[in-house]
Amino acid sequence: MKTFSAVIWELIKPRQDHTPCRVNTSGKKEANMHEITINLHMHTCYSDGSGTHRDIARAAMQAGLQAVIVTDHNVWVQGVEGYYREGKKSVLVLVGEEIHDQDRDPQKNHLLVFGADHEMATLGDNPQHLIEHVRKVGGLSFIAHPIDPELSAFNESNISWVDWQVRGYTGIELWNGFSELKTVVRGKLDALIYVFFPQAIAHGPISKTLYLWDELLAQNQRVVAIGGSDAHARKMSLGPLHRVIFPYKFHFSAINTHVIIPKPLSGNLLEDRRMVFDALAVGHAFIGYDLPKSTCGFRFTAQGKEQNVTMGDELSVKDGVTLQVRMPGPAAECRLIKDGQVIRTWKRVEVCMHITTDPGIYRVEVYRKYLGMKRGWIFSNPIYIR
Ligand SMILES: [Zn+2]
Ligand SMILES: [Zn+2]
Repeated sequence: MKTFSAVIWELIKPRQDHTPCRVNTSGKKEANMHEITINLHMHTCYSDGSGTHRDIARAAMQAGLQAVIVTDHNVWVQGVEGYYREGKKSVLVLVGEEIHDQDRDPQKNHLLVFGADHEMATLGDNPQHLIEHVRKVGGLSFIAHPIDPELSAFNESNISWVDWQVRGYTGIELWNGFSELKTVVRGKLDALIYVFFPQAIAHGPISKTLYLWDELLAQNQRVVAIGGSDAHARKMSLGPLHRVIFPYKFHFSAINTHVIIPKPLSGNLLEDRRMVFDALAVGHAFIGYDLPKSTCGFRFTAQGKEQNVTMGDELSVKDGVTLQVRMPGPAAECRLIKDGQVIRTWKRVEVCMHITTDPGIYRVEVYRKYLGMKRGWIFSNPIYIR
């Protein structure tokens, strides 16, 4: 007989497990691109999550991910990074940290730190100093849940980023699964419904966060966007009912960051780790909500006279540029955004093209219908046309 949690999983599981993303080899121009699906920003029992790194690795393999980046609160857990294997499956587990000033009440300014390989939590009281130090040791820093509203029914306070004068960080977490939950839950009944039907939660990044990102880009800052799950897999007890709410496996099938790397992962920890962080550092990535349908295969590229580039890259406008969007299936709507303004919208398409001689910062948002609503499906990093 199936356990209660198995029955619930049957109800909420995505329509398909991911298969590893494959490169489109039909065009020579993409010959040295390879896409991997990563879930990032999650917590284990070393902070306020319920699982171990092994539990996370297992859930990631079941969801078909190629890598995860674990970020416990104010603790850098050493000795657990590496490839985890089960049967023929494997997943790369990387370990960063989510840092904030623990003496500050209410809490603000959570920073995700990847690849620093040092304990940085002692620098949490000074975000600018922390960002500079992370950069100095070769790490990356992302502003976590930039806008994170209060949820008074559960005593969850507003833990948005507030020190916007900081400079030199790698990017922001444009779409955070937990912040978004706080925007849709109004009371305890809502919360219970979403616990049993978490696939109804996600609609897209918080619109103020999207606006904020465009503002930062307009200030000539290269701000890389990533999507994070903020998975905790907390345990809930309600009378005789015990269950894990929003299990890791659910999160790993939902808001992921897809990273474009120059060659497939080799299985060598140090080499692969460097390749993933190098790609994230420049924004060779997009955010995909993989629950309605896998976003593997999405591409946003620009072709100039002598060069072809992808998300995160820069291209000269000289002699004109062709922007091309290729979607991994029919989309309800695809928006091309230049300098924060929607300049073109296509409906029910899989491929879109736009020819321009205008310099600007171009990015793409794709929407798809799911459970009777138009929801955010893909958010690209920008291409910088100069
Ligand atoms: Zn946080
Ligand atoms: Zn977190």
